[in-house]
Formats: sequence, structure tokens, C-alpha cells
Amino acid sequence: MIEVPERFYVFVSGKNKGKVAELYMFDKYSFLVYMLYRLREEWSGKREKNFLHKHLEWLLRQGETRQTKMLCPQCGLRTVKFFSVRYCYERYDFSIGTEYTCCENNECINTLQGKAMEKIPEFMPFKFSNLLRFEKSDRPRVVRLFRQAFCLPERLRREEAFKFFLD
Ligand SMILES: [Zn+2]
Repeated sequence: MIEVPERFYVFVSGKNKGKVAELYMFDKYSFLVYMLYRLREEWSGKREKNFLHKHLEWLLRQGETRQTKMLCPQCGLRTVKFFSVRYCYERYDFSIGTEYTCCENNECINTLQGKAMEKIPEFMPFKFSNLLRFEKSDRPRVVRLFRQAFCLPERLRREEAFKFFLD
């Protein structure tokens, strides 16, 4: 069972000293994943997991279950569930944005698919782990869309970030 922490986690040493794990979910997600991987490697399974280990397990799990607040631009009735990504291989680019999102309703999914013309877009749920499916340099664009879908401000305070992952 994963314990629910009482507050956000502040890194206490190294070059991330003073930085907050909850804010890194948006800015340095892959670093957190890597750090948890390392902690799991080091953890023997005998002794108790350290504080950071437990916190990251909780935080990364929470990143998979956040509820969106933005309404589906296709129907305007339900909140968005998916964002679609249209790859343009000729230009090594992709299209992403609020207009390319939809709820879980089949009609909305079909509408969005239809707008893609001859290209079949990939649909992804708003889970933070999906950030890893993009190149590091492309991630800020995806994070911007996440902030819009979750109705979060551009500059998030650490208490707000913690509350967002806590709910
Ligand atoms: Zn819809």
C-alpha cells in the first residue's frame, strides 16, 4: 500500500537541491522516472523504502489518474479524455492542441478522426507517462496542452502542484 504524503517533496541535495518533485512532473518528468528506477535498483526489498522512494511511487502513480477539467471541443458536454497526435513524417513534426482533443464518446472520437483527413492520428489519454513518448524537446508542447486540459495556470505554485496530484 502506498502512503499518502502530507506535503510536496523538496530535494535536499545534489544539483536539484531546493527543487520540488511535484513541479518536476511538468518540467522534468523523465528525471523522476529515472530516479525512481535507480531507487528501485538500490532497494534490496529487505529494508524499508526511503522517503523519496515512497514519495515518487505515490507521485508517479497519481500522474496516471488526474481528472481533466476542459470540456470536449467536439461535443462541449463531457471533459476531455484523449488528445490526438498527428505526425507529419516529411517534416519530422506533429500537430497537437486543444482542438485535437475529445471525450470518450465514440462520436467525438470519430469526428476527430475524420478531421485528420488521410492521416490516422494516434489517441493518447492524459496520463503523465505519455510524456515519455515524445522527444525531450517536444515535451513542453505536450505539457502546455496538459495544463490546458487540467485548467492549471502557466506558473504553478508548489502547494497548488501538490494539491493537484493529491486530489
Ligand atoms: Zn465529446
